[in-house]
Amino acid sequence: MLEQGTISIHTENIFPIIKKSLYSDHQIFLRELVSNAVDAIQKLQMVARSGEFSGEIGESEITIAVDKDKKTLSITDNGIGMTVEEVKKYINQVAFSSAEEFVQKYKDASDRPIIGHFGLGFYSSFMVAKQVEIDTLSYKEGATPVHWSCDGSPNFTLEESSRTTRGTTIILHLMEEEEEFVEEARVKNLVKTYCDFMPVPIKLGDEVLNRQKAPWRESPSNLTKEDYLEFYRYLYPFEEEPLLWVHLNTDYPFIINGILYFPKLKPDVDVSKGQTKLFCNQVFVSDNCEEIIPQFLLPMRGVIDSTDIPLNVSRSALQGDRTVKRIGDYIAKKVGDRLKQLYRDDREQYIHAWKDLATFVKFGVMNDEKFKKQVEDIVVFRTTKDSENTESTAKAAETPAVEVQSQEGDVWQDVTPGGEGENAESSQKPALPYVTIKEYLERNKESHENRVFYCTDEASQAAYVELHKNQGLEVLYLDSFIDTHFINFLEREYNEVKFTRVDSDLDNTLLDKDKSQEIVDPTTNKTRGDTIKEIFEKALNKPKLNIRTEALKSDNPQGTPPAMVLLPEILRRLREMNAMMQQQNVEFPEEHVLLVNTAHPLIQNLENLNQGSIIQDDGQSSNAEIVNSICQHVYDLALMSQKGFDADGMKSFVERSNEVLTKLTKQAAK
Ligand code: ADP
Repeated sequence: MLEQGTISIHTENIFPIIKKSLYSDHQIFLRELVSNAVDAIQKLQMVARSGEFSGEIGESEITIAVDKDKKTLSITDNGIGMTVEEVKKYINQVAFSSAEEFVQKYKDASDRPIIGHFGLGFYSSFMVAKQVEIDTLSYKEGATPVHWSCDGSPNFTLEESSRTTRGTTIILHLMEEEEEFVEEARVKNLVKTYCDFMPVPIKLGDEVLNRQKAPWRESPSNLTKEDYLEFYRYLYPFEEEPLLWVHLNTDYPFIINGILYFPKLKPDVDVSKGQTKLFCNQVFVSDNCEEIIPQFLLPMRGVIDSTDIPLNVSRSALQGDRTVKRIGDYIAKKVGDRLKQLYRDDREQYIHAWKDLATFVKFGVMNDEKFKKQVEDIVVFRTTKDSENTESTAKAAETPAVEVQSQEGDVWQDVTPGGEGENAESSQKPALPYVTIKEYLERNKESHENRVFYCTDEASQAAYVELHKNQGLEVLYLDSFIDTHFINFLEREYNEVKFTRVDSDLDNTLLDKDKSQEIVDPTTNKTRGDTIKEIFEKALNKPKLNIRTEALKSDNPQGTPPAMVLLPEILRRLREMNAMMQQQNVEFPEEHVLLVNTAHPLIQNLENLNQGSIIQDDGQSSNAEIVNSICQHVYDLALMSQKGFDADGMKSFVERSNEVLTKLTKQAAK
């Protein structure tokens, strides 16, 4: 026996506290011990490089072994090993004094989740073991092999061992309730989770369990597009290919490496949940880094690896950390740079990805002033106007993969998803026309200065969009869920610009004022508009409904809608706000506008029908009745694009349709 002693710590027995305070994460002992083993191997390589060690290093490896009978788990490395003095110093003093410090710091905070429990180190083995042995032989010439053992009390024994191979074995005698760690499947799983990217092979029996290569630590110039895609598939199997990615790689003012991918967003994705994995020196720390990634980039995926992120602090403390804040800003900036680069170099690809990117970007623009400044000029909207510039499409198809060296020394990889060949599919399809607000305002200056027409639902507002398009008015599609907020944001940004939804009002350019003022009854001086208004008022009998008659301008009146329901911008917004606050749909307001198109043949026929003598073929039908029905019908059709029918509405709509058709067929048969 070399020595028997008491580890100098002040708490009588820290182990129960370790176990209690860190219980939920006890499995991380394996990560800690394997990390120490990797360190030991890397230290030996360093010593060899410095010339202090001239022996044979051999194949570096870490071996895990389980003994189901003895209930032991052991971890062996062929690294640097320890001398007696080193065991005394590093295990008895360093390891345990930092253990004590850690426990003191956290014994009151065990309910606060701590992000990584990092640096728990060697003593975390006592979370699962009732006894721990170390068997080690230093690389130093003539070193004595050492055996150390401790049963979880502060007492240890230290004696000479019979070990002949360089390196260290840590043997854990598992507590009864921790015996699951002798199961191979459990061990494999843990190694996969925590140690997959550690740079040394980790074996269980003959099988190497870990991948080892960590692409984010490579220089971007050494990685191909396929490397990035392969890594994404590895991290997120069965997912669609990412849209693009950003390789983070800087040493100053903080160290950070990582690869962040923009995934293709699924409709059911929870955008408030982060999916980026956090690593520290290739050691897995946590499944998300929500405290580090700016909120608007949370849906990004991939890996962040930094030794500058404090891990032994609570999550809330992490959020307040200055370095973490700066890392977040850095990430946002890199993402912004990447987007701008793509916008500049491959417009078609940018537009292709925009459908999925738009949400991230708009959210970021609204929430992060710096990000807004960076990307505001590349926020684009789909438009009704055909792209006049097909040149960029042609150029994009030819552009080879490019690498751009940014000022900070980070290299960005070109990221056209799909291989070179597969890309042909997307370049064959004509790019949908997209435009920025600035471009829109500029090119429509002549016809409608400082006015933006937009549509929020392509299907239901189709008629309104068509109307604008036919008169040469450009309409933007602001039809994603974030756009309701984004419109408000745009209005604040461009306060001299009026944003009008296509169905909230009709611009004068869409109306033929002369036509609706046409006098149809010289005796009363009534215009066509007046007469039609009366007919509708009588038929619909809705005092709160504002009936307006206008002639819609068109070369083909039959192609325009006979009537449209308009909901003034202000009313509609109030309604949207209410719906948002009450978390439900609110009733369609009764005070809307029914615009009846006096230029449409149907409406003009209605006027004639109303004037005609009453048909009394069977004593039941009259022109007045059918005029009423048709007015109702025209109104329902117009309403349909603003709101769906409820059950009653649907029923009467169908009944009336049948009734009107019956009457018409009867008339026609005569
Ligand atoms: P840390 O790894 O954070 O320094 P630990 O408590 O895990 O703290 O370990 C304390 C020290 O014990 C290490 O710094 C190292 O010098 C030594 N040590 C631990 N494990 C090994 C090992 N497998 N081989 C060589 N030395 C080791």
